[in-house]
Amino acid sequence: MSELRQNIVYKEWVIIAKERAKRPHDFIDNSPKLESDKTYDENCPFCPGNEEKFPHIEVDRIEKNSKWILKSVFNKYPALSKDTSFEWFEKDIFRVITGYGIHEVIIESPIHNTTIALMSPKEISSVLLFYKKREREISKNKNIEYVIIFRNHGYKAGASLVHPHSQILALPIIPRDVKQRVEEAFKYYSDHGRCVFCKLIEEEIKNQERIILETDHFVSMVLYAASSPFHSWILPKKHLSRFVDIKDEEIEDLSKHLKNVLLKLYKGLNNPDYNYILRSSPISYGNNKYFHWYITIVPRLTRSAGFELGSGMFINPSIPEEDAKFLREIEV
Ligand SMILES: [Zn+2]
Ligand SMILES: [Zn+2]
Repeated sequence: MSELRQNIVYKEWVIIAKERAKRPHDFIDNSPKLESDKTYDENCPFCPGNEEKFPHIEVDRIEKNSKWILKSVFNKYPALSKDTSFEWFEKDIFRVITGYGIHEVIIESPIHNTTIALMSPKEISSVLLFYKKREREISKNKNIEYVIIFRNHGYKAGASLVHPHSQILALPIIPRDVKQRVEEAFKYYSDHGRCVFCKLIEEEIKNQERIILETDHFVSMVLYAASSPFHSWILPKKHLSRFVDIKDEEIEDLSKHLKNVLLKLYKGLNNPDYNYILRSSPISYGNNKYFHWYITIVPRLTRSAGFELGSGMFINPSIPEEDAKFLREIEV
């Protein structure tokens, strides 16, 4: 029998379509890949040595032996830009803000054809520390309300370049979706006197069925109400509202999780396309007791259609407990 399951944190319902559920290995991804066998590509805008051919405005970099190992540049085609003045006004019944914001691309490695799953934990730690550094810097801007760090991997996740990169978008508003999520967490806190994410972590560790990995500081799990196959979260075990406040010594532990989950997906499902997103409390909400930051990983193995648009609900044609077991059993 199919089931409707509710996400305890956000109250979203999903249909776990058990009747027509596929087994985890049915999701092995054989679609065309955004991959390359070259470590350097002369036509890549992010490869070292191509800077003159593809000029970018560089924002920040980390160097080793006077060569960059990580770099942040302004997006060439930014969704929002800091060069615009920040203005907010009403036009008849409509509200407008000028396209103010920050859109940076983080180039995660000088090597053209690597990806987070294949990098060493030490390299991943450097990427995460660089995320923290950039977010800290951007959050100082008084016009910025919300910072999103995300990674698109593969065509179906919206990527068009092989070279490993993530993006940071800083917004002058708090998106409605983010506000609603934070408000749900606040409601739970008001009703129960504790953080709903902390409660979820406690229960999932007790239950073990959906856990992928547990270490000193973090836990990774496939969600009980996963909206799509292998939809997973990586959460810090200690309560913290924003990624930007993570301690440097916890980063190493987090890099283990990111590598572990992504490499298991890479090996088990043939390098599927995915998005990951760092979800934090908005800047002005500060460090609070009700919102708990985490990384969400969404492999792009199914497509949404009319039902999802019409209901805001998802149909997941896999069983979260089986997906978690499948991932646990893949050796990395
Ligand atoms: Zn490249
Ligand atoms: Zn918490």
